[in-house]
Amino acid sequence: MALYADVIVDISHDKLDRTFSYRIPKELEATVRVGIQVYIPFGGGNRLIKGYVVDIHPEATFDESRMKEIDSVVDENLAIEGRMISLASFLRTNYGGTMNQALRTVIPVKKSVGSREYRTVKVLATKDELTDLLQEAIQKKHVAKERLLTALLEDEEMEYSLLTTKLNISAQTIKAMEKAGVIAIHTEKKYRNPIQISDRTELRNSLNPTQKYIVDAVRKDYDQGIFKTYLIKGITGSGKTEVYLSIIEGVVASGRQVIMLIPEISLTYQTVMRFYRRFGDRVSIMHSRLSAGERFDQYERAKNGEIDIMIGPRSALFTPFAKLGLVVIDEEHEGAYKSESIPKYHAVGVARELARINGASVILGSATPSIDTYYRALRGEYQLFTMNERATGQDLPTVYIENMKDELRAGNRSIISRHLHDLMVDRLEKKEQIMLFINRRGYAGICSCRACGKVLKCPHCDISLSYHKAKYAGGRDFLSCHYCGYTQDVVKTCPDCGSKYIGMMAGGTQKVQEQLEQEFPGARVLRMDMDTTSGKDGHEKILAAFAGQEADILLGTQMIVKGHDFPGVTLMGILAADISLHASDYRAAERTFELLTQAAGRAGRGKTPGEVVIQAYDTENYALVDAAKQDYEHFYNQEIAYRDMMDYPPVVHLLMVKFSGKNEDAVAKASASITVENPGGRVIGPSKASLYKSEDLYHMVIFYKNASYEALTDLKSKVEAEVSQNDRFRYVSVQFDFDPLYT
Ligand code: ADP
Ligand code: ZN
Ligand code: ZN
Repeated sequence: MALYADVIVDISHDKLDRTFSYRIPKELEATVRVGIQVYIPFGGGNRLIKGYVVDIHPEATFDESRMKEIDSVVDENLAIEGRMISLASFLRTNYGGTMNQALRTVIPVKKSVGSREYRTVKVLATKDELTDLLQEAIQKKHVAKERLLTALLEDEEMEYSLLTTKLNISAQTIKAMEKAGVIAIHTEKKYRNPIQISDRTELRNSLNPTQKYIVDAVRKDYDQGIFKTYLIKGITGSGKTEVYLSIIEGVVASGRQVIMLIPEISLTYQTVMRFYRRFGDRVSIMHSRLSAGERFDQYERAKNGEIDIMIGPRSALFTPFAKLGLVVIDEEHEGAYKSESIPKYHAVGVARELARINGASVILGSATPSIDTYYRALRGEYQLFTMNERATGQDLPTVYIENMKDELRAGNRSIISRHLHDLMVDRLEKKEQIMLFINRRGYAGICSCRACGKVLKCPHCDISLSYHKAKYAGGRDFLSCHYCGYTQDVVKTCPDCGSKYIGMMAGGTQKVQEQLEQEFPGARVLRMDMDTTSGKDGHEKILAAFAGQEADILLGTQMIVKGHDFPGVTLMGILAADISLHASDYRAAERTFELLTQAAGRAGRGKTPGEVVIQAYDTENYALVDAAKQDYEHFYNQEIAYRDMMDYPPVVHLLMVKFSGKNEDAVAKASASITVENPGGRVIGPSKASLYKSEDLYHMVIFYKNASYEALTDLKSKVEAEVSQNDRFRYVSVQFDFDPLYT
C-alpha cells in the first residue's frame, strides 16, 4: 500500500496557500513524517523545490498516474520543525486563517538574513597604489570608485555594510576592487546579542514562606513529570518574579529550556535585568524592535542550544527550543497576548498546546488575572496560588476617590482635584516623586465642538481624530487618526454648525503637561506617551531619567502603569479613571479595574508608604470602588454575574466572524448569505461592526455563542466551506476571532 503526503510549498507566498499531493517512495516511507522538509519536483520543468509535509494519508487525492514522487528529505533539525508544524495546524484549527498564515506565525524568520554575516573590507594595496588609483578614478569620473578609494585611504579596514549603505557604493564596485587585488573581503559569522550587560552582581533574596511553598509545589510536580498550568495570583510587589526566577532555575538545571513572556518588553527593562543578573548570557531577549537579522540570530542561538531562556512578547512562544520545559506568562491579563493579525491566537492557549506537545508546565501570573483565567482556575482547570502580601512587607497604598463633578461645583476648573493638588505640593516639598496616569488611550486630545458636540472623525475610519502638536518648531499642529495614520490640518470652525469654539478636549498628555507647568512652576515634568517614545530607546531613556531622579513628575498613558518599580514614587494620580468604562464592549469594566489596580500598585514601592488619588465622574461604579479597595474577589464576583447573565465569555465562548470589503452592499449581501447554524448556541447578526468603516473598508459581523469551543471551531469550518463555494465572497474577505478582546 502506498502512502501519500500533502506538501505545502514556499510559505512566503499566500498564492500557493494550498497543499500539493505527492507519492512517498517506498525507500522514504520510514523517514517522511509530518513536519519535515522535503524536496519535490514542481511545475512543468520539475524544478526541485523545498516544501513542508503537513499531512500523510493512505488514499490518493487524485489520479495516481499523474502524481509525482517526493524526491528526497531535507536534512536539518527535523524534530523541531515537526513540532512547529503541529503547532501551526493547531493555530489553523483553533483560531482560523490559512495554513500558510499559521506556518508563517510559528516560523516567523524562515528566510536567512544576509546581514547575519559580518563582513569587513581590508586594504591589500599600498598607500601609493591607492593614491594612483584614486587619481585615475577622478580623471575618469568614476565617482563611486573615488568615494571608495578615499575611504580606504583613511581606514585600512572597514565594515562592508558601511560602504554599501552610508557611502552608497554598489556591491559590483567593491567586487571589482576585490578582483583587482586592491582589497580583500572577509566574511565572519557572528551572532548579535541585543543586550550588553556590564553589571552582573545580584542581590539574592531568600524566599519567604509563601514563595517557598509555591516554588516547592511546582518543582515537586515537575520532578515527577506532572505538567500542569498554574496561576499565581499575587498583588504587585508580592514577589511573583522572584518565584519565577527560582522555578526557572530548577528547570534550567534539569537541562530544559524556558520561554518567559512579558508584555511590551521594552517597558519592563528592570525585569529583564533581573533575569540577566541571574542567568547571564544564557538569556536572550526578543522584541518587536529587533531587526530581522537580530531575531534570526536569536532563533539560531536557541536552536543551537546556546541559550536556556527566551524572554519576549507573544512571538517568543515560537522559539525553537529542543527541550522546552516551562512557559511563564507574566501579567497574563494583558491584551497584548492576543494576536491582532491572523491567526488571532491567544498566547495562553498556544502556550498550553506547546506545553502539551513538549511535556512542559505553564505558569500564568498576574495581580489581576483576566476574568477568563480566574474562572478556569476556580473550576480547577489551573492550579491556583495566591500571594496577598508585599514581599518587602510594606503596606499597600492608601487610595482616595475624588469626584470631579464636585470639583467643578466648587469652582475648581483644573484637571487636578484640590486633594491631589495638595498632595502634589507636599511631595514636591519633600522631594518625593509623583506619577500621573492619564487613562485616555483613544480619547487623548479629541477635537470636538463645544457648541454642537460634533467630534471630528477620520474620513476612512469611524474613529475620532486626535490633536497633535507640530513635530518641529515653526511647523503646524495637526489632527491624525491613530488607526490608519491619516492626518489633516486643524480646523478653525466647526464643519457642522460653524462655531468657532471647536478644539481639543482637555486631557491629552500634552495639555496636562502644560497645565502642570503652570500650576507647579519649577517642578520637573517628564512625559511618556506615543509622541515622546518613538525613538529606538525612547522608553528606556525616559524611564532611566525618572529612575535617576531627573524629574519630579512622570506623566503618561498606559505605558507608565505597567511593570515599573520606582522606589522614589510615593504618590500616584489617576486622571479620568472612569473614561475607559465608556468603551463599547463587554470587557470595559474588566479593563478599567485592571488598569486602576495596576496603577495603584505603582505607588509606595520604596520605604515610604504610598498614596493614590483616583479622579473620576462615575465614582460609584464597582470597577472603580473595588480597584480602590484592591478587592479582586469582589470585583470578580460582580463581573462574572454580569457575564453569566449576558452570556458573555468566559461563561460561553464567542466567535466573531468579520466580513470586510470595499463595496458596502456586497459586504452586507455576502454576510447575509451565510446559512450556518449553531445548535445549542446563539447566532447574532449579521450587523455592522462597532468600527463599521476603517481604511475604506466596510465591516459586518456575525457572533456565534456556544458553551463548547469545539462547536465553534466546527462552525468555523462550515463557514469557510460556504465562503469558498459562494461567488459573493470574491471581493469580501472573512476573518475569525475566537473570544475576541474587542468586539
Ligand atoms: P512582583 O513580580 O509580584 O511584582 P517582585 O518579585 O518584583 O514582585 O518583588 C517585589 C519586590 O520585593 C522586589 O523589589 C523584590 O526584590 C522584593 N522581594 C521579592 N521577594 C523577596 C523576598 N523573599 N525577600 C525580600 N524581598 C523580596
Ligand atoms: Zn459645532
Ligand atoms: Zn483612519
